[in-house]
Amino acid sequence: MPTIIDGNALAAQVREEVALDVAALMHATGVVPGLNLLLVGEDPASAVYVRNKGKDCEKVGIRSTIVRMTAEATQEQVIAQVMEWNADPAVHGILVQLPLPKHIDEHAVIRAIDPDKDVDGFHPINAGKLLIGLDGFIPCTPYGVLEMLRRYTIETSGKHAVVVGRSNIVGKPLAMLLAQKRPQGNCTVTLCHTGTPDIAEYTRRADILISAVGVHGLITRDHVKQGAVVIDVGINRIELPDGTSRLAGDVLYDEVAEVASAITPVPGGVGPMTRAMLLRNTVTAAQRCSV
Ligand code: NAD
Repeated sequence: MPTIIDGNALAAQVREEVALDVAALMHATGVVPGLNLLLVGEDPASAVYVRNKGKDCEKVGIRSTIVRMTAEATQEQVIAQVMEWNADPAVHGILVQLPLPKHIDEHAVIRAIDPDKDVDGFHPINAGKLLIGLDGFIPCTPYGVLEMLRRYTIETSGKHAVVVGRSNIVGKPLAMLLAQKRPQGNCTVTLCHTGTPDIAEYTRRADILISAVGVHGLITRDHVKQGAVVIDVGINRIELPDGTSRLAGDVLYDEVAEVASAITPVPGGVGPMTRAMLLRNTVTAAQRCSV
């Protein structure tokens, strides 16, 4: 049986640690960390994500404010809101929920966020810092994956990590982090994507396999080497024969669990850690401006 990497338990640990840090910061400086979230449009999934992020903040003592704009909001209005928060010293973290309505240029909005308040880690300055190994903000999902590896003491140095998926928010930063000479790094990294003719040829050579694609069943037992560590970032809603549906990852969990040495479930794996690392980044932002 593989080790099942319990994202819910780890996320609870992270929240406890963050709550202690929030209390210590308040005690030492009187500062209450603040996260402001902007939701543009009526996408139901985005509304749930934002609400959950607000609730997570409440649990650890972070003050959160959610501002909602209609789908008709202009890019100028969105950027004006971001700029207002950039200038507000009580706001330590700014999160603009993506995706934005089609008429708004996401990159322009992300670039408007003060990099020191960019707790999602999507600003080009933070992406650049990540690339060259400077302290910025690591995007929450890659950060969550690194924490899973660290907290389960999974050796990465000298290992071959294969990342499937090259998005700016998951695959690319994760590949860069794993390649760096640092704890939870020093891997030889292969990055697979839609241009990779036969991903199994690469994934079968992975000591650590991370799938961040969004295609259920992409990773089967035949894609995985005996004893590999498998981290499933994918979240897919799949229809069941009885007409109901459930969440599942990219990995065919039951059959891959037969060969993996450790594996993350979906749900209950990377998802809760992503949420927890947003809290960590927000407290870090507040700590950095209180020294
Ligand atoms: P994305 O759509 O931006 O990127 C997907 C990547 O997968 C692309 O780079 C593409 O090249 C690659 N890809 C697509 N089909 C492929 C195939 N058949 N073979 C190889 N590569 C292929 O998605 P994203 O934002 O990176 O998210 C990826 C998945 O992770 C989604 O299911 C998303 O819901 C999930 N996700 C989960 C969390 C979490 O907290 N667990 C966070 C972010 C994203």
